[in-house]
Amino acid sequence: MTTYDAVIIGAGLGGLTCGALLARAGRKVLVIEKSNSVGGAASSYKVGDLFVEGSLHETSDPTDPRDPKHEILKRAGVLDAVKWIPGGAFFEVRGGPVGVPLSVPDNFAGARDALTARFPHHADGIAELLSEMERFAAGAPENDSQTSLADRLQQIFGNDEAVKCAIAANLSYYHDDPATLWWPFFAAAQGSYLQSGGRYVQNGSQRLSSALARVVIKSEGCGVVVRRVVTAIEKKGDAFIVSHTAKDGSDPKTAEAIRVISNAAPESTVELLAQSQRPPFLSRYRDLSPSISVFALTLGLAKPPRDFGFTSYSTQLLPDWMTSLADYAKAAALMADEPAARMPPLAMADYAAIDSGVPAPPYVLSVIAPDRLSNWTGIDHDAYRAKRGRWQDAIIAYLDAHYPGLAKAVVASSFNTAMSVRQYLGAPNGAVYGFAPTVPRSTDEMAARSPATAVPGLYLSSSYAGFGGYTGAIQAAGACADLILRES
Ligand SMILES: Cc1cc2nc3c(=O)[nH]c(=O)nc-3n(C[C@H](O)[C@H](O)[C@H](O)COP(=O)(O)OP(=O)(O)OC[C@H]3O[C@@H](n4cnc5c(N)ncnc54)[C@H](O)[C@@H]3O)c2cc1C
Repeated sequence: MTTYDAVIIGAGLGGLTCGALLARAGRKVLVIEKSNSVGGAASSYKVGDLFVEGSLHETSDPTDPRDPKHEILKRAGVLDAVKWIPGGAFFEVRGGPVGVPLSVPDNFAGARDALTARFPHHADGIAELLSEMERFAAGAPENDSQTSLADRLQQIFGNDEAVKCAIAANLSYYHDDPATLWWPFFAAAQGSYLQSGGRYVQNGSQRLSSALARVVIKSEGCGVVVRRVVTAIEKKGDAFIVSHTAKDGSDPKTAEAIRVISNAAPESTVELLAQSQRPPFLSRYRDLSPSISVFALTLGLAKPPRDFGFTSYSTQLLPDWMTSLADYAKAAALMADEPAARMPPLAMADYAAIDSGVPAPPYVLSVIAPDRLSNWTGIDHDAYRAKRGRWQDAIIAYLDAHYPGLAKAVVASSFNTAMSVRQYLGAPNGAVYGFAPTVPRSTDEMAARSPATAVPGLYLSSSYAGFGGYTGAIQAAGACADLILRES
């Protein structure tokens, strides 16, 4: 039997990037993925004629040497394997306290000018805030600040909710509550978009995931298998025995490895361990909570979204009931009930607005907003589908009120909720960004965001080993590979 240097559980961005880095460093790795294809959240696929982008609206530009992903994707051998298409502007925000549309460019100077033109009385505050974000994006020293996004915006802008909502309109890229979102994390992540610009992977995020998988497959002694579920990790002497089966539980097999790297959530990984290893493994995550979930409604339109009034690749549509940034926190629970007057703030991507390579017609509009698994639990499958259908109809009617004519143009759709995220990715609570990026309450909490685990030889390579999103998962993978290469 081959003894691998590492078996990697899961072929999401975290697993694949770490696999590619180790494979290129001459290590023998085997990646085992339970889904039919690689990518995890970073997947794109077809439902009938409709192209569905599983996750990506935008990520900061990894071709910029200052971007946190740059060196990692370069070393993984995929930086130039895909085209990183500019989104044009960071986003256009409209509605809520902001009111008429405001386009925020994806660079610091442009964002400062656009925000200052709309909020001239806050010129100094805007300049101060953006400079601080610029420093964080450039890699400001470790920060032990206990400041939340809400605190920092309040310190600078007082009770002017419009300027706050303009700056943090895309909150669902990170979290759903400004009162608990950690300011230094937001500043660095939002600052990265303003430092290098927002990008989409031409032809869909699957291209990036497949490129990473190819690097692994083409490396000597390495492999990627799909449709195989890892069911147990056991220590045997100096090695681990990793058991895996077909999706229906049949065809059990094992693989031997010196190290095991989990791309799955700690809450799922713990179930693979021996009973005695479970308490120490879990204890280091006890102060961390799962991140938010999101729903993703993909609409296929007979005509491009611009024909109905979309003017930007990325649009943040804030609802009229939202009168403060704090109201954002009320959005995630809305789908617990039947659709009524209130809609959540929507983050939308119009893939026909840029050179996305997304096939059309139908023209693809992706609509994302905070969601919770608990919004969909406690009902049977038929009731779930029926409720989801009513929400879909309500969202389309709401969009039609803002973009007249859109409803009649919908010819295809696909609606993934927090429940879908849990089912397809196995993500506990439907979390999409690993652990929530909330204000840390202890140094232990920050230390737990690491690829190292309490079980020697077992590592995490995912959003859970750092922070979420494409940047977070890729950074965590880089840290995991570096740790292993240093040790070996
Ligand atoms: C709708 C949506 C929109 C998003 N939009 C953006 C965006 O615009 N920009 C951005 O930066 N981020 C975005 N994100 C977040 C980003 O996609 C994720 O944070 C990131 O891709 C997570 O990568 P990961 O490797 O940590 O985990 P995952 O992608 O969840 O990968 C984990 C993998 O492990 C596999 N696995 C789990 N258990 C097992 C097992 N026992 N055996 C075998 N395999 C297993 C799973 O099947 C999965 O493939 C979005 C996410 C969603 C859902």
